[in-house]
Amino acid sequence: MKSDCIFCKIANGDIKADVVEEDEDTVTFLDASPVFPGHLLIVPRRHFETLADLPDNLLAPVFLQARRATQAVVAALGAEGSFMAVNNKISQTVPHLHVHVIPRRKGDGLKGFFWPRRSYTDDAHRQDFVSRLKEAFEKL
Ligand code: 5GP
Ligand code: ZN
Repeated sequence: MKSDCIFCKIANGDIKADVVEEDEDTVTFLDASPVFPGHLLIVPRRHFETLADLPDNLLAPVFLQARRATQAVVAALGAEGSFMAVNNKISQTVPHLHVHVIPRRKGDGLKGFFWPRRSYTDDAHRQDFVSRLKEAFEKL
């Protein structure tokens, strides 16, 4: 536990949160400022900052729970689907890994402001990204 971490405190029960499910490895609770009502956060109990820091043995527990959350928002709230996201460092306001699961409905307006798209300049530009990423994957 990291003493100044708000999600460690929630996992430890030191700060109140609207917990909807917890197990040995994870805690799932309502985001205090939801994109839509029912927006959930899934955290590992132990403190890891980003997904890259999460050890292999906790990868399945965290993402199995995230999958359960995508099922729960549909079953409980009549959502038609969900959006799942993890901010790593950039745009990450709480430096304790958390998976967002946000209930979605057709026409809920999220698409409009989210993820403006752009184009690759040309094939060479795109291929440059392919090569750099392939090389990085090979070294991981
Ligand atoms: P991030 O911006 O790091 O991806 O997401 C952090 C999320 O944590 C935000 O959506 C924010 O609303 C939520 N959050 C921040 N502090 C608290 C808190 O004390 N309790 C709860 N339940 N959610 C929080
Ligand atoms: Zn923490």
